[in-house]
Order: sequence, then structure tokens, then C-alpha cells
Amino acid sequence: MPKRYSIKRKEKDNSSKEVIKKPASDQYHLVGCIVCGKDLIYAEQAISRPCSICGQIFETRVYCEDGHFVCDVCHSASKSDVKWFLRHTFEKDPIKILLHVFEMEKVHMHGPEHHSIVPGVLVTAYRNNGGEIDYEKALELAFERGSQVPGGYCGYWGACGAAVGAGIYACIVLDGSPLKKDTWNYPQQVTARCLDAMTAIGGPRCCKRVSRLAIEVAVEWTKEYLGVTMPMSYPECTYYERNRECIHNDCPFFGRPDGLEQEA
Ligand SMILES: [Zn+2]
Ligand SMILES: [Zn+2]
Repeated sequence: MPKRYSIKRKEKDNSSKEVIKKPASDQYHLVGCIVCGKDLIYAEQAISRPCSICGQIFETRVYCEDGHFVCDVCHSASKSDVKWFLRHTFEKDPIKILLHVFEMEKVHMHGPEHHSIVPGVLVTAYRNNGGEIDYEKALELAFERGSQVPGGYCGYWGACGAAVGAGIYACIVLDGSPLKKDTWNYPQQVTARCLDAMTAIGGPRCCKRVSRLAIEVAVEWTKEYLGVTMPMSYPECTYYERNRECIHNDCPFFGRPDGLEQEA
């Protein structure tokens, strides 16, 4: 049985609230289809469709009941704002940084933007906790590589994109490459540990849950292998009402609206 990374914690932690902003109103929906808010269809067969936002034609398996499809680039429209925030935050707790990013405009409930957000948050927390890194280069690589991991990676390619995002972070801080023997193992061990932690809890996909798990694993690994310690908080999740597939009590981050611990 793989180790469970996040478990229900009894102590309350309200410290994350100070950095969380409520999402601003936006013309696009944050849940379901960005265009109309209806449920998304994950089809067996890819079809050719124009992106409802930029108009470019893509092959896709994911579109809404009304046929809207939004490409990964348009889904990640938050990228420049998120990078700006990451550059300028001095917060040391990567979970607080992550939760702030989650609340930014155009960061959706689920979506491939999380594949860049995870390594972006991690390189930022690494810098903020004294890790030696060429930060601007690292941040660019985090988003360049993360944005190449498409939406639906968990269910179609067999590895959650947030887990791959943690692996991207490890590649960046170790300056890894496919040919470097001494660093080849480590990032893939990080990804594997993330996948162990995620599959110990189970699906279906929740980009918030897996992003938090990936950060927890990467923080632990960073302390073990790089000697850099990052403080980490464990606030209860506030996304269950926005997540149609929330697994509620099976999720280690689930809490009741009034903040009370759920009965076992
Ligand atoms: Zn739609
Ligand atoms: Zn597009």
C-alpha cells in the first residue's frame, strides 16, 4: 500500500486566508465548459474542432454538450498573470502560493494550466526558501514544459499532469537532461511518488487535489535530496461546490463549510 501523503489534520490552519483573493467576475465560466458552463464530454474518438476562443482547428476528445472546445493555450490564459504573481511573491509556503494562484482570474476548476502552475509554484517556493536557482530561467522552463503537457493527461496518457509538473520542477532544479546519468533517476522518482500518493486516494480527476499532493511530495523530496526546507500549511479545500466530481470524504483536503472536521 503506497504511503498516503496528505491525511486529515485535526489542527486548524487559517493562515492561508490572508493571501487568498476571491475570483473576479469574468466572462468565461470557471466550472465545466469555459464558454457555456455545461458538462464536458471526454470522447473515445478525437474529432476536429475550432477552438471557441481563438478559432484555430485542433484534434480533441474534450468538448461540451453544445460542442464548444477550448484549446490548451486559451485554457491557460492566466499564464502571464500567474507568472507575474509568482515573480513578486515572497511567500515561503508553497501551499499558500498555490491557493492564491487557484483564486486568480481565468484559473479554472480543472484544466491543463495546472500542469504549469505546479512547477511554477515549486520553483518560486524553492527560491523563496533560499534554494539556489536561476529563477527567471527556471520560471520560464516551468511554464514552457508544463504547457506542453496536454489536458486530460491523467486519463489518456496514464500520468497525472500535476505529477509530471512536480517531475518538471525536479528536472529544473537538478538541471537534468535525457543524457545526464547522475540526475536521470530523481525527477522520475518524484513523478512516481506523486502518482503513488494520488492513486492511494483514487480518482476521478481533481486538478486541485492532485496539485496539492504533487506539491506535498515535491516539498518532502526537496528536503531529502536538496536540503532545502519549505514550510507547508494544510488548509481545508474550498472547491468541493465547484467540483462536480468531488470525492468528498475520500479526499484528504475535504472539510465542511463551517470548518468543522467531518465525521469519519
Ligand atoms: Zn459549452
Ligand atoms: Zn484557443
